[in-house]
Amino acid sequence: KLAEQLGVSRNTVVRAYGELEAEGFIASRMGSGRYVEALPPAPGIRRIDWNSRHGYESLAASPSHMADLLGVTDRYPDTINFAHGDGGKHTLASSRFSDYVKATAEELPSYYFTSVQGLPHLRELLVEWMGMEQVSSPEQVTITSGSQEGLYLITTLLARPGDCIVTEMPTYFGSLQLFQSLGLQIVPVPLDADGMRIDVLEGVLARCRPRFLYTVPTYHNPTGRTLSLERRKRLLALSERYGVPIVEDDAYRHLHLAEEPPPPLKALDETGSVIYLNTFSKLLFPGLRIGWVAASRPFVRLLTRLKELSITTNTLGQLAVAAFLRDGALLPHLADARRQYAEQAAIMERHLERLRPLGIRWERPAGGFYFWLSLPEEINPRRLMTLCREQGVLLACGDMFLLREAEQPYIRLCFTHERPEQIDRGMAIIARLLHDRKEM
Ligand code: PMP
Repeated sequence: KLAEQLGVSRNTVVRAYGELEAEGFIASRMGSGRYVEALPPAPGIRRIDWNSRHGYESLAASPSHMADLLGVTDRYPDTINFAHGDGGKHTLASSRFSDYVKATAEELPSYYFTSVQGLPHLRELLVEWMGMEQVSSPEQVTITSGSQEGLYLITTLLARPGDCIVTEMPTYFGSLQLFQSLGLQIVPVPLDADGMRIDVLEGVLARCRPRFLYTVPTYHNPTGRTLSLERRKRLLALSERYGVPIVEDDAYRHLHLAEEPPPPLKALDETGSVIYLNTFSKLLFPGLRIGWVAASRPFVRLLTRLKELSITTNTLGQLAVAAFLRDGALLPHLADARRQYAEQAAIMERHLERLRPLGIRWERPAGGFYFWLSLPEEINPRRLMTLCREQGVLLACGDMFLLREAEQPYIRLCFTHERPEQIDRGMAIIARLLHDRKEM
């Protein structure tokens, strides 16, 4: 309308709005239009240009996938959510975790703060929970605000902008965004059915001497693949030979659908080169923001110095988790959750089977939360994602997990978040859109 009134093209108006927004004069609010945020400064007054004030060009240049994904349910409530990687409210309700939160809230005044490293009692319980000879003391553990903060601290400690790090490709988008935002050079290593290709890695390590290697060796996000025991040993041998620390992100270890996975790299680590990360985000729920880092004492001491700069992790959550673990409530909760996840995965896979004739391919994951779908080349996954969202179904686009847009388009579907009836409804919508491909 404005374009018509002004007698200019629509593109000119869109561009002008974009510039005003970039300069902070206007802001758009979803569903309700654009608003004036600030008036232009009076003559002689200098407005601070925040975009040129910060030291992180790479931050501004990197995609903002995490914010997009987290904000999507606020913008689109009441949708069927195959996009988020979490265990779903239904499994959480049966865990009775909220009873522990209530009881803990009453004890809270006596725990005004805990140490920077995290509640000592929780760290002791975590040492017991991990059950690894290599992590025998609570001094080797620091509690973090989710494992993402752990990875942020580790990365800040070990690498500077321009440094090189190695990771599987595709990989967990939160790690990719973190490395890109901090200006690191990411050297990708492909995966096959047995996880990271160690034969390829050897050449990579010889060539680029990375600051560290980041891996999700067990039920990898997004592919669901697991590094075989034999490759775990070869990976450790290479890390020792080249002196490269390994950051092992073990978020999905306890979420096997059938038999248990091989031991963590940390449990095979003879030289202390593995930094182990885990989280209650997948064991309970991600909004809890409680994860942990376990490593050799000197590294944990350093990490805790850095953590100190943002004080500590929330005490209420730490106390509730500690009480939950102390009562032995986590194991039965996980057994129950795994049973439900296996049923949900089977339902989703039945729907996927019907899509096979359309050229959709996937591997059945042995654990974790996701199906990683390869789509026929002519399908645009971003377009599919938008069409699905308009019909009330959220999914994660594969390009978030890749450095460059792959030739083959992918999407990731989480099978753990929704109950069976919702999986049926959501998959029927996806199937209808894929069958009726002319819009893509
Ligand atoms: N690592 C992996 C492999 C993940 O999939 C996720 C969550 N999607 C995280 C880390 C983030 O965990 P947290 O919520 O504890 O920060």
